[in-house]
Amino acid sequence: MKKGSHCTPEQKKNMSEAKKGCTPWNKNIPCSEETKANISKTLTGRFTGEDNPNYKNRGENSPLYKTKHKPETIEKMRVKKMGENNPFYGLEHSKEQKEIWSIDRTGEKHPSWIDGRSFEPYPCAWTRLLRESIRLRDGYICQKCGKTEEENEERLSIHHIDYDKDNCNPTNLITLCRSCNAIVNSDREYWQKIFEERNNKGGRAT
Ligand SMILES: [Zn+2]
Repeated sequence: MKKGSHCTPEQKKNMSEAKKGCTPWNKNIPCSEETKANISKTLTGRFTGEDNPNYKNRGENSPLYKTKHKPETIEKMRVKKMGENNPFYGLEHSKEQKEIWSIDRTGEKHPSWIDGRSFEPYPCAWTRLLRESIRLRDGYICQKCGKTEEENEERLSIHHIDYDKDNCNPTNLITLCRSCNAIVNSDREYWQKIFEERNNKGGRAT
């Protein structure tokens, strides 16, 4: 075959059928760092910009433009990215990043702030995302003693201020470390009042 000429789909299919079950020629042959570097050098820039076969298929020209995934597909993708497969699994945000969030994204600066409407009650969904959003709102800091997540050496807990586990309204949730969470289990009325005031006004309970 002439170098650079293309096979017809029929030819490709025949070749793939013929090779089925065979061990690939390069299986178990270790690729040296030099070879890898060479391959990478050869391929770099080859498919960028207009050289990319999909170059003209961007935006409105994409065959997937404005199409939506089926619910089953979304579920499959979601499951695939759970737990250890999640690219964020085991990763921690840097202290600086958490500080930026705790300072810059409170109240009216919060992206989901619409005249305070983001704090309206909604049906309880005790999800990891909800708990994470409360930690984020509270700057990853125990709202009673001020311990950070790093100092606590484990994820901070989310406490239900009115002790009602079904009330997952963000105004009823607060970030606490393990020891403070244990403390607020007694003197419930006292702590409920303290935290309710704190969540209405902002600032830490002392
Ligand atoms: Zn604490």
